[in-house]
Amino acid sequence: MNGIPVALVTGGSRGIGRGICLALAREGFTVLINYNSNLAAAEETRDLIEKEGGSAELCQADVSLKEHRDLLLDFCMETLGRLDVLVNNAGIAPPQRLDLLETTEESFDKVVNTNLKSVFFMSQAAARLMIGQIEHGRISSAAIINVSSMSAYTASINRGEYCVSKAGLSMVTKLFAARLAEHGINVYEVRPGIIETDMTAGVKDKYDKLINEGLTPIKRWGRPEDVGRAVAMLARGELPFSTGEVVNVDGGFHLRRL
Ligand code: NAP
Repeated sequence: MNGIPVALVTGGSRGIGRGICLALAREGFTVLINYNSNLAAAEETRDLIEKEGGSAELCQADVSLKEHRDLLLDFCMETLGRLDVLVNNAGIAPPQRLDLLETTEESFDKVVNTNLKSVFFMSQAAARLMIGQIEHGRISSAAIINVSSMSAYTASINRGEYCVSKAGLSMVTKLFAARLAEHGINVYEVRPGIIETDMTAGVKDKYDKLINEGLTPIKRWGRPEDVGRAVAMLARGELPFSTGEVVNVDGGFHLRRL
């Protein structure tokens, strides 16, 4: 049995997911980089890891589809032989930012399927695998880390479906944390603030201004590596007596100030 732990990162091709993949590879994990459509970006992430002496594999899967999730986990076990850490990072913004009174059911279903339902059932399937591995003595513990958002508790009325998906994800974290502790699997939520990625490229000017005006105590954009470092800390087991915990990576956005 390969003694090197394996981390699966959904949406690992670009942005925050890439930052997480790089940080986990530096931690000594073999990283399974999942992507949906952007093979070139996924290959670039793998190249960056390999350049630093790390090891990674790629696997295409649309996490909003059950058959794809199953194939992704099968690929992980068949190719890498184990799964120690699942990072549920893949996510989408609404295709169009629309006022709450204009939000469509189509957009709601797409965003909630991708950001929330996929994580619930991906965690369920991965947890079954992890429990099996732990019971057979192949690994001693495992972890699931969900990438939510400050939108889990911040009402943005022009992307309500996104906020709903991330608020739901916070409960998914709590539920699986409560259920899986007895098996030696800790579950965490990493809650990014405003991070510079493709997802936020279209609202750069708006957020530049807000950050300059003091929206966040730490006056800068977050970077994918900021989130990567938080995930790596959790993945290497730095919080063994904590589960269901939230780590804000938001420059202090969540602080109430007067
Ligand atoms: P991004 O730059 O748009 O990258 C999204 C990633 O998710 C890509 O790797 C993409 O794969 C993948 N993905 C999208 N839909 C997928 C699907 N159905 N199946 C598999 N993979 C899929 O976004 P990001 O800013 O890095 O965001 C990553 C996560 O952080 C998301 O959950 C997002 O909600 C959350 N977040 C972001 C911010 C922010 O400010 N950027 C703040 C808080 C939370 P392809 O490359 O193949 O398209």
